[in-house]
Amino acid sequence: MTGGVVKLIAMSVHIAVFWLILVSVEGWTYHSDNKEQLNWKEAREWCQKHYTDIVMVHNENVTHFLTKYLPSRSSAPYYWIGLKNINDSWTWTDGQIANYQNWGDKEPNSVLPDENCVEYISNPNNNGKWNDESCTRQKYPVCHKAQCLNNSCSNRGHCTEQVNNFTCECEPGFIGPRCEKVVTCEQLSAPPHGSMECSGQYGNHSLSSKCTFSCADGYKLSGTAELQCNSSGAWNVPPPSCAVVSCEQLSAPRHGWMECSGLYGNHSLNSKCKFSCAGGYKLRGTAELQCTSSGAWNVPPPLCAVECFPLLLFGGGLMNCTEGHDSSRSACRVECPPGHLLLGFAEFTCRADGMWESSFPLMCASFVHSLIVLLSSAVISLFCGWFCCSKCRKSKKAVRMRTQQETLNPAFEAEHTPPDGPLCSA
Ligand code: CA
Repeated sequence: MTGGVVKLIAMSVHIAVFWLILVSVEGWTYHSDNKEQLNWKEAREWCQKHYTDIVMVHNENVTHFLTKYLPSRSSAPYYWIGLKNINDSWTWTDGQIANYQNWGDKEPNSVLPDENCVEYISNPNNNGKWNDESCTRQKYPVCHKAQCLNNSCSNRGHCTEQVNNFTCECEPGFIGPRCEKVVTCEQLSAPPHGSMECSGQYGNHSLSSKCTFSCADGYKLSGTAELQCNSSGAWNVPPPSCAVVSCEQLSAPRHGWMECSGLYGNHSLNSKCKFSCAGGYKLRGTAELQCTSSGAWNVPPPLCAVECFPLLLFGGGLMNCTEGHDSSRSACRVECPPGHLLLGFAEFTCRADGMWESSFPLMCASFVHSLIVLLSSAVISLFCGWFCCSKCRKSKKAVRMRTQQETLNPAFEAEHTPPDGPLCSA
């Protein structure tokens, strides 16, 4: 064996003694490579400087692990662990209260007033047991190095240190040992007579993806227009469908009939309804309606109504009549041209039975003609008055003469008949 090889072996042995690494696996690694004994505070600082922190013994697995790998020092088999008495609670350096405790016989006993730190005993008699100890005492540190890195769980979960491994608690919507996968929802497709558009940060059918649905002209969406893939891998609501549009249900008009037909039903897209009226009634409106793609009939439905006989209006007047959408009544109003007067009623109504409700207008007459008519009426009235009064006076005179003759000669009544003419009051 050459001198160089001997020197190399000696160096390796020296390194192995000085830097004792207990184990290095995928999870935490435990280290007890310091040759000095330190107080608890110094021990923790040394661990934080060279590794992650002073070791915590959260469960029995860690105890078994340390029992197996920590060197059994015959002279001073004592190691600081990361447990302290804080406010009368044994608390780990990560702030957790120690649920798992593995005290030696009659420990913790607080023999000294400041026995607030814990040592781990590594000898055959008390292997793995704990003792409360003064924090100023000198022990070996045993450290751990955490294996959880910032991206150990793909930045999508919480990394938990284990003895021989670490585990990831993934955020909702992510799966896999390292949260490296995204949950996916069922593949969707566009409904018949419709279209679909999907998009999302992780893909078209993955976590938080959204799919928007729309329907072709003449079809309406039945359901929710936008779906979202939730963290459980299911769409938040069922996908919608496209249904052919429907128009309002119609009914036959009073005194009439209706007949509807269509490819998708009697009141659906492109359906047609035809209207007719019974004898004596006339259709007012459009005889055939069609259901449009917007879901509305193209025109209002008609009605059956009786028409009043037409009026002849002389003198150039205008007659404006209303036709109620669902009424058989039609109100009319006459307006005469400027310089004319209406002789008769200005407003009148056509009733449902086909008769005018009030007197109807006669004519529109000019002012001159109106004056002539008024004067003529006055002359006629005066003439009639004079004629009647004259006739009345003659009748009274004849009555008086007859009365005188009857008084003188009773046989006169039998020989004469009463005179003709209007009867006048005495
Ligand atoms: Ca003690």
